[in-house]
Amino acid sequence: MSMINGFTSEDATRLSETERRLIERRERLLGPAYRLFYERPLHTVRGEGVWLYDEQGRRYLDAYNNVASIGHCHPRVVEAMYRQSLLLNTHTRYLQEGILDYAEQLLGTFSGDLDRVMFTCTGSEANDLALRIAKQYTGGTGVIITQFAYHGVTGDIAELSPSLGRGMVLPEHVRTVRAPDAYRLGAENVASTFAADVRAAIDDLNAHGIRPAAILLDGIFSSDGVLPGPAGFLAEGVALAQAEGMLYIADEVQPGFARTGLNMWGFSRHNVRPDIVTLGKPMGNGQPIAGIVGRSEVVDDFGRNMRYFNTFGGNPVSCAAGQAVLDVIQEEHLQQRSHDIGGYLLDGLTKLAERHEMIGDVRGAGMFLGVELVTDRATKRPAAEQARKVVNSMREHGVLISAAGPLENVLKIRPLLAFTKEHAEILIEAVDVAMQGVH
Ligand code: PMP
Repeated sequence: MSMINGFTSEDATRLSETERRLIERRERLLGPAYRLFYERPLHTVRGEGVWLYDEQGRRYLDAYNNVASIGHCHPRVVEAMYRQSLLLNTHTRYLQEGILDYAEQLLGTFSGDLDRVMFTCTGSEANDLALRIAKQYTGGTGVIITQFAYHGVTGDIAELSPSLGRGMVLPEHVRTVRAPDAYRLGAENVASTFAADVRAAIDDLNAHGIRPAAILLDGIFSSDGVLPGPAGFLAEGVALAQAEGMLYIADEVQPGFARTGLNMWGFSRHNVRPDIVTLGKPMGNGQPIAGIVGRSEVVDDFGRNMRYFNTFGGNPVSCAAGQAVLDVIQEEHLQQRSHDIGGYLLDGLTKLAERHEMIGDVRGAGMFLGVELVTDRATKRPAAEQARKVVNSMREHGVLISAAGPLENVLKIRPLLAFTKEHAEILIEAVDVAMQGVH
């Protein structure tokens, strides 16, 4: 009987009466569109630091949450929101200093000509706004994305999210390129393959009389299977698209806010200059705040033609949360931590591959890691069923991760930035033990 994180494997199995009741209520009230994590769904009642707690007081190491990225219920964020809530919570149509202080602080994390910010509530809204700006600026409609991209849920953005499911049929103004799968393409071929795919996509849009507007990319290619690709590989393809008049929208909803290591922003790993950057998830550590940062020339072209108001976007409480997040990233040296602990995890997981034949590839940037499982290292056949078992077995041992990629055979590991070496060791051991039980 194995024991990790205080859990024995016998703690597993069977739903409690409370869990059964919650599942039934959920299905009755919310319907089938909502999907739960894990075969035995987790009933969370409390979060603190890197831990989530269930109703029986058992704790789970959170290696999957990049919303509460700096730690669950971080006291600095809670305090900032509480103070601002007591004082004022209106919206962006009044003069108010908080939004401007936050805008300055946020823009200060970008270099060069990314000098305007606009606020939304969700990453989907941020991408939707970025797309509207790109269409206005270029006069085009054509968009390039990756084959299994996810960018959000608005009508226009769901059409750019083939990973949503079989029901999502790509419209005629969208073209896809291959994600940077260094494991299958070979690291040395990733940049040229990407550039060639972008070239072909632009040519095909033009051939169909569709004017290209934007190339929209998640810098860590999370839904495509956690594919950081070699640093710098994006540069050639992106430059090519920009030379054709397209805007490059860097979707930083996943890789942003120190997730990929020393850089605050994922795109900084590549020698690229986004026209618009979209932000979300960890921006308010759970408070709904998201937005776009862009070049003023591009953003102002939109603003001159149309007014913009988002009732909740950029409200004083959200801005206070956002500011606290930036402060904590700096004061707790989370960029360095993301780099150091991320590197430690990458090494530890890579060592596991010596003992587990099923681990075909281990990759990552900072605290965003992917472990690709295959049934055969020679053919690289995806081991989807096994990945599902590993994820569920880890959950039963109190360590939370998930799986990604078109076939969901890639262990998706996205620990809170507050992880220490001790937490990293628990995670590595949990992967090890779960892999031992899967064939
Ligand atoms: N872009 C990416 C890359 C994402 O992963 C997500 C959310 N998973 C979004 C955009 C959409 O963000 P939201 O759920 O806040 O609308």
